[in-house]
Amino acid sequence: MEKQLTGKMADILRNKRLDRELRVMEICGTHTTEFFRTGVKNIFPEGLTLIDGPGCPVCVTTNDYLDRAIEIGRQHGVIIATFGDMVKVPSSYSSLAKEKSGGMDVRVVYSPVNALDIARQNPGREVMFLSVGFETTAPAEAAVVLEAKKTNVPNFSILSGNKLTPPAVDALLAADEVKIDGFIIPGHVSAVIGADAWGFIAAKHGRPGVVAGFDAGDLIGGVLVLLNLLENNEITIKNAYTRAVNASGNLRAIEVMRDVFLESDASWRGIGLIPGSGLSIRDAFADFDAEKKFPVSVPEPREHRGCRCGDLLRGLIIPTQCPLFGKACTPENAVGPCMVSSEGPCSAYYKYWR
Ligand code: SF4
Repeated sequence: MEKQLTGKMADILRNKRLDRELRVMEICGTHTTEFFRTGVKNIFPEGLTLIDGPGCPVCVTTNDYLDRAIEIGRQHGVIIATFGDMVKVPSSYSSLAKEKSGGMDVRVVYSPVNALDIARQNPGREVMFLSVGFETTAPAEAAVVLEAKKTNVPNFSILSGNKLTPPAVDALLAADEVKIDGFIIPGHVSAVIGADAWGFIAAKHGRPGVVAGFDAGDLIGGVLVLLNLLENNEITIKNAYTRAVNASGNLRAIEVMRDVFLESDASWRGIGLIPGSGLSIRDAFADFDAEKKFPVSVPEPREHRGCRCGDLLRGLIIPTQCPLFGKACTPENAVGPCMVSSEGPCSAYYKYWR
């Protein structure tokens, strides 16, 4: 049933009249879900379209990463510790769920600290944490590597699939494949990197953006500020989430992240290789770098047949435009990661849109 939003701000948004069609991209997987869950999407004025961007970390992770993790599990017999979303994601030829049912030791954890605990409890086994996420989680993952080194837990390592979001947005805008009038910018990533980190959207690409939080009031407020900028042709980045985000971010978190990780090129599903968009582990922590510790060769990665996650993550389509949506592809039988992850656009549309 449609959630009814009340209040003055909701009425202002509901009754807004646009003088032209507008396409706004939300970059963040949590925003994707929250726009639906809170009902804010239902009160968008006519002519306002929300498109999803590359903001779900599990979705943007390429098959190659998961193929490598599985191969390490097979060849080196490590315990694989991972967030739950990754378990059901199809790899090129398998999935962690399938491997687990075949005997691989795959354990779901709720934080990288849990993975380090597993390593401490199993000194005779190697434990590899699948480190997949954006700036929001990278500081915690870096802190765990520092802790593993400091407290001498040599059987712990991480497979870094960490990514940085601004380079992906920069790449999308530079590719110019899709009309984007403005951005709703993720609040939690911005709490780490600061609102100023998004200045390039306005300065280099001539689009406005608004940093927004996640409850209904935050979302409505963020959209209204963005519409106001667009109406007035004001090309700037506004921070509408000041209770959590400042201009320069969390300097301590950034420092911890930089202590352990080094910016590197990374491949994104649907977008390809983006310079400086990944985080590799510095040589000083090579003993905790699963890629160096467990060299494997992996077969040529294979895309999921018919899956259009890549197009979705570039804002080219919405989930209902994928021919497999809700038919061959459902949360119980997902063809691609965008239907598996709780932050994936297909999962959000399946849960709320229908
Ligand atoms: S509905 Fe399924 S197959 Fe289609 S894009 Fe989404 S995850 Fe891929």
